[in-house]
Order: sequence, then structure tokens, then C-alpha cells
Amino acid sequence: MKDNVVAVDLGGTHIRSALINEKGEILARTERETLAQEGPEPVIGRIEACIRDVARGTEPISIAAPGPLNPWKGIIHQAPNLPGWRDVPLADILHRAFKVPVYLNNDANLAALGEHRFGAGQGINDLIYLTISTGIGGGIISQGELLLGTKGLAAEIGHMILEPEGPPCGCGGRGHLESLASGTAIARRAVEEMEKGAETSITRLVEGELSKVTAKVVAQAAQEGDPLANSIFKEAGFYIGLGIANLLHILNPQLVILGGGVSKAGDLLFDPVRATVKARTMLSYQEGLQIVPTALGGDVGLLGAAAFVLKTG
Ligand SMILES: [Zn+2]
Repeated sequence: MKDNVVAVDLGGTHIRSALINEKGEILARTERETLAQEGPEPVIGRIEACIRDVARGTEPISIAAPGPLNPWKGIIHQAPNLPGWRDVPLADILHRAFKVPVYLNNDANLAALGEHRFGAGQGINDLIYLTISTGIGGGIISQGELLLGTKGLAAEIGHMILEPEGPPCGCGGRGHLESLASGTAIARRAVEEMEKGAETSITRLVEGELSKVTAKVVAQAAQEGDPLANSIFKEAGFYIGLGIANLLHILNPQLVILGGGVSKAGDLLFDPVRATVKARTMLSYQEGLQIVPTALGGDVGLLGAAAFVLKTG
């Protein structure tokens, strides 16, 4: 009982919480809609309700949240999917409410830790985790330790610059990996080509409504053999492969794990990623390297949050 953790995954659409033991087994879980547009206070109320649903006693609380945030002070500086959140001392607020230790970390960083402790990266001390969904996030484990940087802001892999004059990124930059290969970018590329009059089965899948085009629909069209959809996934995979090649030369990991909704496209994404890494990385960095899908799926944030506390002891 003493080794259980209450883990919380604070997302833009859902808040999920779970009671997790030291083996990574989920003993209880709950979920609420974030309703982020209502602002911080009601969202914090829902976080507290989620915690009360699963807590059995005085378990420590560990939160996975979107960044940028300060993991040592437990403050969320801002979060693109949580309107109104500016320098919110979430760990302090929850500590006052529950009187237990509260930890706050970046969700993608925790995902790397979760895979390291419970998932595809068990026993591997140098690994990189990339989540490819609406945006692109990352976490890096180097020599068994989470790489945080001087302000806890490290491993924002999605904002690696790959095309200096490329498409605008949500952060204000240009040509970032996220603006070239995220789910949002994949959908945007499809819409651009459709507006130019490209013939594609995506048109049928969305019944002609461009606003319904998502990366999932583009993946479906690609699976059906649609040439445009295939070329868009090939391009996204190419850029992710370039990003990974850069990371391999800098960090020399043994394992790269790809998670997030877009990674569910499977070979459609993994084939061009692996081909690009093979073509663009020095041979010694490729030897023994594996590029694999997440083993923890949608629970990676919760399990990562638990792993952080178990590691901290
Ligand atoms: Zn960016």
C-alpha cells in the first residue's frame, strides 16, 4: 500500500488519474473531461475530484502535464492546450488540498521514464521517446537519467528546426519538426493538396468537407492505397527520420520509441522513418539501434508519472 502512487495525466481534452503500484499495475482509474476553455480554477477542481476518486489514503501524487513547466517548483508556466494557465503553482495547490507530496513533470519526459521502467525500454539506459500526435513531444533518458536541462525544459524534440523557411509552428518558429510531421501537419498537407485540386480518396472519406481532414483519415486513405495520402505519410516519416538522425549523432541512444496517435499508423510511418535513419545516420550509430512503437500506449503518461515517484523513492 505504501508504495502506491496516485498518477494524474492532465491533457487538453481529458484528465485521467490512476492508483498504480510499484509493479506498474493499475489498481483503480478514472477520467473526466478537462473542459479547458473554462480556465484553470474549474480544471483544478476536476483534477482534485479525479484524485479523490482513486486515492485510498496518503499516497504521493504525481502529475504529467503539458509544458513548459518547472518540475522543481511544480509550476506550469503555460500550456498551449490549457487556455489561461500562466505560472500556475499546481503542485503547491494540490499539496495544500491533500497534504501529501506532489510532483509535477512534463508529460513527454514522463512517458520516456514510463517506457524505461515498465515498457519497451526496460533495462535500456539510453533511449529517446517521441510522441507524435497533435504536436510532437519528446523525452530523453541518458545513462539511466531523465535529461531535464538547466530549467527543466529539455527534450522539446518537436521544436527542432529542420527547414529554416518551412511552415509556421504553433510556438511561433518556422520549419520545426512539429510543423512538418505532427498529426496537425499531416492534415494540413492533405488540405493544401486538395485545395489545389488533387484527386484523392480522402475527399470521399470526409464527404468533401476539408474541415474533417485529420491525420487518422489520411492514414486510412493511405492504407487503401491512395497515392497522395501515402506520399504525405512518407514525407512526415522522412522529417521524423531526419530528427531522429540528428538525435542519434548527439545522444547515441540504443532505442527510439515512437508513441502518440499518429504512430498507430504503423508501417506507414515507421517504414519511411527507418529508411531515412538508415540513409542519413553514420553507420556506428545504427548498429544495435532499434526503432519501436510504444509498449504502454495511452497509459504511458500515467505510468511515467508513477515511475517518477517510484524512482525518487
Ligand atoms: Zn515549434
